[in-house]
This record gives sequence, structure tokens and C-alpha cells, in this order.
Amino acid sequence: MNFDSSDLRNMAEKACDTMVEMGKNLRETTKTVIDVTPLTLKLKEKESYLEKQYFELGILYYQEHEHDENPEFEQMGRISAIREEIKEVRRQIAEVRGKETCPGCGEFVEKGHIFCPHCGMKIKL
Ligand SMILES: [Zn+2]
Repeated sequence: MNFDSSDLRNMAEKACDTMVEMGKNLRETTKTVIDVTPLTLKLKEKESYLEKQYFELGILYYQEHEHDENPEFEQMGRISAIREEIKEVRRQIAEVRGKETCPGCGEFVEKGHIFCPHCGMKIKL
């Protein structure tokens, strides 16, 4: 393939245009990143706060409706079921460690305690 001087000039001009375009794109990308980053952080912070509020509301709702006969949401039953499973696993861990679990708060308690040192519930009759 042979190039004459006008071909070389055209190629050089195209290469220059491409580099100018790349520079523009880089400037725009950098500006976008700089402008968007604090907004993204703000968004994450607010979403995290919202999630925490929903979580706390969920706990409050559960505590309020834990003993409802026909709970409005199926999650109520699933939460109760998993809480029982957690209680059982904690009891097994306590057994392995030679301890007991408090029937009130579920914390590990040394054997022989009459009252739970964590919540004060009477353990032994
Ligand atoms: Zn307790």
C-alpha cells in the first residue's frame, strides 16, 4: 500500500481529531464523576437510613402483633418460626459450652443462676 502526502495529511488530521475528541470525553467523564460522587454518597446514606427505619418499624410491628391470632402478613409466621429455630440452636450451643440459655432474652447464662444477669428473668423455679 502506497501513501502520498495528502493521505498522510488526512491520517494525521484524523488522528488529531480523534485525540481532541478523546480529551473532550475524558474531561466530561471526569466532570461527571466529580459531580456525581458526592450525590451517590448522599443517596447511599439516605437509602441506608431508610432501610434502618423500615427495619426498626418491622421490629416494632412484629412486637406489637406477635401474638395476633391471624397475622396480617405471612412474614410474621416466618419470623416466629426462625426465632424458635434460633432459640433451639442457641440452646444447643449453650449445652456444648456447659451453660444454659435464658428463656426470656436467650442470652447464655452460667448454670446455677436463679435470675438471668442480662434481663433479670427468673430462670429457676
Ligand atoms: Zn435473660
